[in-house]
Amino acid sequence: MVILLFGPPGSGKGTQSRLLSSWLGVPALSTGEMLRSEVAEGTDLGRAVSELLATGKFVSDELVNQIVVRKLLQPDHARGCLLDGYPRTVQQAEHLEQFLASAGKNRSHVVHLDVPSEMIVARLTNRLQCPNCKRIYNVSSGELRWTTECGECGALLERRADDREAVILQRLHTYHDITGPILRLYNGEHYHRIEGTLPPEDVFLQIQQSLRPHLGPLTPSY
Ligand SMILES: [Zn+2]
Repeated sequence: MVILLFGPPGSGKGTQSRLLSSWLGVPALSTGEMLRSEVAEGTDLGRAVSELLATGKFVSDELVNQIVVRKLLQPDHARGCLLDGYPRTVQQAEHLEQFLASAGKNRSHVVHLDVPSEMIVARLTNRLQCPNCKRIYNVSSGELRWTTECGECGALLERRADDREAVILQRLHTYHDITGPILRLYNGEHYHRIEGTLPPEDVFLQIQQSLRPHLGPLTPSY
């Protein structure tokens, strides 16, 4: 089973990736790590990657596709794996699914950690303010785990403006531009929308519940 993990920066994707990998007993692969390991192993693909990187060029879809497929064909990935950061384009997603189909494997399952941009920005900048009574909430205090409403007056809390927010919002826009079209390729039982605003342990429980009916011969280690 191939699982594709999607979530905006700040969604806790790294944590869920580690939990899932250990629960399912399958490796978690990030595109960056795959490229680095090809380079380290000095494979033909690795040499092509290091030449591109040395000249400041992007690694093409085609090259990344080849590297991912090579990884998936290795025996330690026979039971499945978790991919993070791939596919980055619709073309890559189509390539991946064609490869899986041709290898007689199931279509990938997408785990989508859905967190509203407001919450991501709040998490990353760490504070929200009530527009009504002006009270400031520190997001990491735990007080706002379940709500984005003011505890004093019930108004919907707002982000406070600062420079970092603009940068974070830009990253989130880029993320949505890239992932929107890819997520639309997966639907029905292959698409798992996870409420990513909950605490990490509850997010993981949702993922387990959503994936469990599809695991087949893949036996979780607990
Ligand atoms: Zn208030």
